[in-house]
Amino acid sequence: MNALWLDGLWDRGWYRFARRLDSPNFGVRPEGTLIDLVVIHSISLPPAASEADYGGGYVQQLFTNQLDWDAHPYFESIRDQKVSSHFLIERTGALWQFVSCQDRAWHAGQSSYTNKLGVTKNNCNDFSVGIELEGVPGEIFKDAQYESLSSLNAAISHICHGLDFVGHEHIAPGRKDDPGSGFDWSRLKRELG
Ligand SMILES: [Zn+2]
Repeated sequence: MNALWLDGLWDRGWYRFARRLDSPNFGVRPEGTLIDLVVIHSISLPPAASEADYGGGYVQQLFTNQLDWDAHPYFESIRDQKVSSHFLIERTGALWQFVSCQDRAWHAGQSSYTNKLGVTKNNCNDFSVGIELEGVPGEIFKDAQYESLSSLNAAISHICHGLDFVGHEHIAPGRKDDPGSGFDWSRLKRELG
């Protein structure tokens, strides 16, 4: 029996304080899955050259299969990709949700995670929650993003116990580099208490 995610913070896997925008890109988690991982990502479409370039709404379009692949030359490199994440936190701290946490979002791809007991599991999408921070790998993130992330992590911890927090770069090394060196892991750990 998978977790029900139903309380004052959650409605069947949907966080009550996020803006909901349903993605068709998800599947069911394997029966009996214990969610023990949060995967932190970063994403920027197209990759922002300056702070003014963020917030164009293209990530939301990508996750809902609404992106016009011809709208920017960069989009050619991701043409026809069907992906999603449970959450996106924009530079402003605005929090979006695309897939219920009861379901499996398509954020990690080919991946492998070794837990604190030394047990290695592949296909991290099966047992993780994916959170995208709007940003370019290697650059720093905004206070407003850490604040939203902190509240969200506390809410997820309400349902899932013994969570570990990793970057996409840690579960798909050599293939992925997000969120990158600009993400403050010590701040995350501190805010998790
Ligand atoms: Zn990623």
